Amino acid sequence: MITCYIGLGANLNNPEQQILDALNALQQLPQTELTAVSSLYGSKPLGPQDQPDYLNAVAQLATTLEPLALLDALQAQELAQGRERKRHWGERNIDLDIILYGDLQLRSERLNLPHHEMHKRSFVLLPLAEINPQLVLPDGRAIATITPEFDGQLHRLKRLWH
Ligand code: ATP
Ligand code: MG
Ligand code: MG
Repeated sequence: MITCYIGLGANLNNPEQQILDALNALQQLPQTELTAVSSLYGSKPLGPQDQPDYLNAVAQLATTLEPLALLDALQAQELAQGRERKRHWGERNIDLDIILYGDLQLRSERLNLPHHEMHKRSFVLLPLAEINPQLVLPDGRAIATITPEFDGQLHRLKRLWH
C-alpha cells in the first residue's frame, strides 16, 4: 500500500457538504482505505478574489491504485459533484488534488507529484502536518520545518472525522 494525501477544496453549493460527500467517495474507492482526515479549515481564495472563501481539508489514503487511476477516480468524483471548469483558480463545488503519492516525484502533462504548489499553500501544509507531524516530503525536508512560517495563516474550524 502507498500512503497518499488528497487535498480537498470547495467554495460553492454548500461547501461543507461537498467536502463530506467527497470524503465519503474516497472511502468507497477500490483498492483504497481512508486512513485519516484533517480538521476542516477556512481559507481565502487564490486567484480571482470575487469568489467565496474556501473550505479545505486533507485526507490520507492507503492505496494500491496507480497514480493515474487515482487521478481518474478523483476527476470522476469532481464531475459527479457537478464541478464545472469556469476560470483558472475560480469557484468550484469541489477540487480533489493529489498532494503526495508516497515518495513519487513525477512531472507529466496530466499529473505532477508532489502537487506543484503544495509548498506555498497553508491550506495544504497545515492540514498535512495535523494528520502526520512526522511527515518527510519526497525532497527530504520534514514538514515540521516548513509549517512554522505558515502558522496563523489558516482558520481551523472543526474536526471532521473520529
Ligand atoms: P491547482 O492545481 O493549482 O490546485 P486546480 O486544482 O484548480 O489548480 P484543476 O482545474 O483542478 O486545477 O486541474 C487542472 C489539471 O491539473 C488537471 O486536469 C490535472 O490533469 C492536473 N494535475 C497535475 N497534477 C495534479 C495533481 N497532483 N492533482 C490533481 N490534478 C493534477
Ligand atoms: Mg487545486
Ligand atoms: Mg485540481
